[in-house]
Amino acid sequence: MEKNIEHYTWIDGIVNELKARNAKKHVIHGMWTPSGYFHIGNARSELMTPMLVFSTAKEAGLSADFNFFVDDFDDLDKIPGGIDVNKEEFSEYLGKPLYEVPSPVAGYKSWSDYFAHDIKDVAEKFGTRPDWHSSYESYRKGLYDDAIRIVLDNSKTARNIMVRVAKAQKPDDWIPIMVVCENCGRSATTTAIEWTGDVVKYKCFQDREYAKSCGHCGEVKPEKGRVKLPWRLHWPATWFAFGTTFESAGKDHFASGGSVETGHAFMREIFKTEPPYQVGVEFVQIDGKKISGSVGNVISLPDWLEFAEPEIMRFLYVSYQPSTAIEFSLQSNKFFLLTDRYDEAERCYYGSQSLTEKRTEQLKRQYELAQIRQPGKQPVQFSYSTAAMIVQAVPNKSISNIEKILKTMGVTKELTEYDRKRISLRIELMEKWLSKYAPEEIKIKINQTAPVPVVSALSEDEKSAVGDVKKALEKNISESELQSEIYEIARSHNVEPKKFFQILYRILITKDYGPKLGPFMIALGKDRVKSVLNSVE
Ligand SMILES: [Zn+2]
Repeated sequence: MEKNIEHYTWIDGIVNELKARNAKKHVIHGMWTPSGYFHIGNARSELMTPMLVFSTAKEAGLSADFNFFVDDFDDLDKIPGGIDVNKEEFSEYLGKPLYEVPSPVAGYKSWSDYFAHDIKDVAEKFGTRPDWHSSYESYRKGLYDDAIRIVLDNSKTARNIMVRVAKAQKPDDWIPIMVVCENCGRSATTTAIEWTGDVVKYKCFQDREYAKSCGHCGEVKPEKGRVKLPWRLHWPATWFAFGTTFESAGKDHFASGGSVETGHAFMREIFKTEPPYQVGVEFVQIDGKKISGSVGNVISLPDWLEFAEPEIMRFLYVSYQPSTAIEFSLQSNKFFLLTDRYDEAERCYYGSQSLTEKRTEQLKRQYELAQIRQPGKQPVQFSYSTAAMIVQAVPNKSISNIEKILKTMGVTKELTEYDRKRISLRIELMEKWLSKYAPEEIKIKINQTAPVPVVSALSEDEKSAVGDVKKALEKNISESELQSEIYEIARSHNVEPKKFFQILYRILITKDYGPKLGPFMIALGKDRVKSVLNSVE
């Protein structure tokens, strides 16, 4: 059945484009240089977008592959910030391919192996198993040999494209190839001086800011990983060698004269084939800053799994157009707004809530694409904010105690095994979030007795209103009834409700605000709340 275009996600839009291209098989790519940690911003453009396009293409009946390239033939050109290594010790590896650089942490084959294991180990938890490729091994196996030969035979055209499209200065006799020096193992320091049609003659004479040349001169056959292509050509050569039909990339590549524009020109004018369909993906910022090891705000995929379910990340990236920059934060309520939106999408998906038709359908589709496996019927909802509150307010976090609390909160449905697992998981996630990520000001500590300065500042009206709250807690009362009862009590004592709520927060947690009071008091336990309120005399 044709879907209504209004209900599409952007992923459905891309898959429709791919359908129209009539390829026998679609080859979808992600690609990343393993010089530092793979963070959630890298994940947006290089893993999540191609993964979602891949699975949706399959769902639409297209034949497709999903390759992920670890670009480990790239040089180490700096020691990234936030990595605890002896810079002196590693400086001798600057200018060498990442697969040749030792791992900064014991137990891994190389620098690239260490940083790539993070993503390889957890990608499946996010619901994807791409075919992993090492660029270095692909060059070694000769998979780039044809492309390299075509480039060498078309050096003039390549130069013209660089001058015309990238507005770059290149010498007339430029040979766009990087030879790995047989003496020092660096490629950034070599210059190819002649292509004989059989061998490339080169010299290692070019000092870089980060690496010194060794002075060696030699010649190599341009194959089997002895040479590599510079980035601007390596990218389209990968499309050519693997038949790529879709790739997303950071939007900086899409600037005028950037590597997308030159890549398309190389494809058409040198490789004589059409470039893949491409989508530029905006950045993810964390707390208003670009993600970077030196800023110290890197959230890796394993980090994410400490505080949120993988479905929440899928939902995040499904629900924003790639052209929209995302501001993420674990320090503000943005995170809870996201998880609440996910829970809302879940209710729409299972039909227990509806918004406008368009919005409901969009949320349903976003929820569906966020799932790794279908739970079958609507799970009992247990929000991240409720979990965070319970973690802080309730000493006994056993699932049976939480089931009791949920009953007092009005959850009448019997919990399934799936519900219990999800509730326990969300409790664990919020414990981790509170201990590692949450800002001090939102943490809660429950008072045993009301703070003396708070009590001494209370008027007689306010004190008797507090007394009425105690009485309300004697009754069999639900959390929403309690919430409205507190309003009523404030009004009947001529206390402004907003101020009265503030007073109760000050008494319970020495803060001016806190979790929604009705559910919070019920979660704390009526006896415990009464005991704190008793100290107000
Ligand atoms: Zn050298």
